[in-house]
Amino acid sequence: MQEKQTPKITELSSGKPSKKLDLSMPVQYVKGVGPARAKVFARLGVHTLGDLLEYFPREWNFVPEPTKISQIRPDENVTIIGIIESVEYQTYRTPPIFEASVADDTGVCRIIWFHGGFLRDLLSAGQAIKVSGKVSTYKGQLQLTNPKYKLIEEDYLESSRRFEPAVYPASGTLSSGQIKKIIEPILSELTGLVEELYPPEADRKVNLIGRRQAFEWIHSPPDEENLARAKRRLKYDELFLMQLGLAVRKYKMHNLSLAVPMQCDERIDKKIRKRFPFLLTEDQDNVIAEIVQDMANSKPMNRLLQGDVGSGKTVVALYAALLAIAKKTQVAIMAPTEILAEQHFISIERYLRNSEVKRLLLTGGITGRKRDALMKQIRTSRVDIVVGTIAILHHDVRFSKLGLVVIDEQHKFGVHQRAKLRKDTTPHCLVMTATPIPRTLAMTAFGDLDVSIIKHPPPGRGKVVTRLVEPYNRAKAYEFIREHLKAGKQAYFVFPRISGDEDEKAHLKAAIDGYKFLQSSVFPEFSVELLHGQMSSQKKQAIMADFRRNKIKVLVSTIVVEVGLDVPNATIMVIEAAENFGLAQLHQLRGRISRGQDKAYCFLFGHATGVEGRNQTAKKRLEIMTRSNDGFEIAEHDLRMRGPGELFSTRQHGLPDLKIANIVDDFELLVMARKNAFELVNQDPTLSAANHKNIRSALLQKFGRTLGLADIA
Ligand code: ADP
Ligand code: MG
Repeated sequence: MQEKQTPKITELSSGKPSKKLDLSMPVQYVKGVGPARAKVFARLGVHTLGDLLEYFPREWNFVPEPTKISQIRPDENVTIIGIIESVEYQTYRTPPIFEASVADDTGVCRIIWFHGGFLRDLLSAGQAIKVSGKVSTYKGQLQLTNPKYKLIEEDYLESSRRFEPAVYPASGTLSSGQIKKIIEPILSELTGLVEELYPPEADRKVNLIGRRQAFEWIHSPPDEENLARAKRRLKYDELFLMQLGLAVRKYKMHNLSLAVPMQCDERIDKKIRKRFPFLLTEDQDNVIAEIVQDMANSKPMNRLLQGDVGSGKTVVALYAALLAIAKKTQVAIMAPTEILAEQHFISIERYLRNSEVKRLLLTGGITGRKRDALMKQIRTSRVDIVVGTIAILHHDVRFSKLGLVVIDEQHKFGVHQRAKLRKDTTPHCLVMTATPIPRTLAMTAFGDLDVSIIKHPPPGRGKVVTRLVEPYNRAKAYEFIREHLKAGKQAYFVFPRISGDEDEKAHLKAAIDGYKFLQSSVFPEFSVELLHGQMSSQKKQAIMADFRRNKIKVLVSTIVVEVGLDVPNATIMVIEAAENFGLAQLHQLRGRISRGQDKAYCFLFGHATGVEGRNQTAKKRLEIMTRSNDGFEIAEHDLRMRGPGELFSTRQHGLPDLKIANIVDDFELLVMARKNAFELVNQDPTLSAANHKNIRSALLQKFGRTLGLADIA
């Protein structure tokens, strides 16, 4: 019913003074779009005129710039545009030849097609034609042989540099051509509604064309160069707004809550370092310096600590914990699972033996009166460190003075938990992850955290050699492993879970079969044991303890990563069906054998017969694994191969979708946008200056409520 009242836009624009349009108007009222097409558009994410303007072509086909006939040279690939002067079909030749002379204003060129009889009906003198092909010489004359051709409108010659239509992503009943027909007539009207985001001096700083111009050229570019400029501007804006949202979110987090400032000094520093039986590495020292600086501040720390498994993050976390305790506050250390929490507790115990620090492992198994008693101790500050799962923050635990929260995410980086935690806490927060986060993601998905990186592991770590083992080489690999077992080493055989694989049973069966085979047929002389996810916690603990004590030589397992085993003497790992696993997972697994000083060996067992049987990406993954031990390099490859879409959906992180920019390909723009966005928020945190009005409303429109930006209003 509304349709009757709202005049069509094209009517609005013709003649009479136009009523004010805005980009929030539903797309349905555009000429050529009725309710049915509006539904198709809705499926494409286009609801309003603004959305339509941001519905960018997928590709643009440009006519290559024609070469003047006087300029063509032998062996070049050229496109010429001209008028056919004459044609002749030469049947007396073998094979018969169709010959045409084509002239432009600089010369004439001979064109021949072998077996070109069919062209008699198609080409004749006087027609305008575009011809593309390779230049050859025949009896000293230049000619084109069997080129591609296309007849063109004569006035096309005038505008021979014009582009061919942009191609829009189509959908079912709505073709690219139809979309173009809808957009083209109203394009200049729509771009007229676009507000420039930045004051002109800011535009000059980033050397970009205006936003309005960019919208026009992205749909209708005059040439390739200007299309590139349009893309660059729109990508920048998209990345800038994303970074601005992150900058505002970070600003709010930092400034709307207070933390206890914890000034470190030499005495405290010395006392803490005495706890470590080794010198800290340069990376550890640098990261600690960053953390100490954060914690001295009355703004809560929000730092992400990245470092491969075994790079020495626990020590860093413990440093921060001991600083918080020296400042008379409590510390919560949390892991994703109880087993991991337990591992943390054990390793912390090693460092804290004979210290006065009161620590406590809180598990779900502790219940009833015992739990009540522990709760009371936490409430009354008689406990300094509580180690447990994330659950300890949510349930009945009340700290008397919580000063620091350490979250070890290991390989399961949970952004949601992070978000929840933030709501009303003021402790300093250190999140640790062993998943190398590529630089691009560190700037986007985690762009509101400060990031510290431990790149180099502690000294004296053995090298890991990784080899791809084809099925016909297995026997050789087994013999190699046998030699190492004889020399006292231990080995893992891992049957990792295929991510997204629901078939738990098949997975378990593969591991059990593998275990039986290894035990009875391959290594009968050694103790081989199986560890899998369905076992009771007690059984698991017992097996892990035996492996640690070197009573088990070969551990066949489904779950090594989850349990976080740390056994320096285990220097061999076999990963079965390696081609089925992602790079990140393979790298995590391999991290288990780089803990000791000895050279370690990782064998990727392929199941498909030979390299040919594998798909290209699987092949590439395995190649990268054999080539690189650098978690960050591997993560960047992962991101590149899978694309940012799969690894990371912007929405999941409360960020708007990217329509034109790509965080991997447009990294240089991303860095620039990030710098400028954070600078802007520094200057004007609420974006309330008069010349930031447009930026502000664009930001609110993009992020809506997801960033909680309403209160910067
Ligand atoms: P992460 O938590 O990053 O997986 P950890 O902190 O558990 O790593 O350290 C892995 C191993 O390296 C531990 O056995 C630890 O004692 C040892 N380690 C840590 N820092 C150093 C160092 N600076 N020098 C020597 N060994 C270290
Ligand atoms: Mg650790």
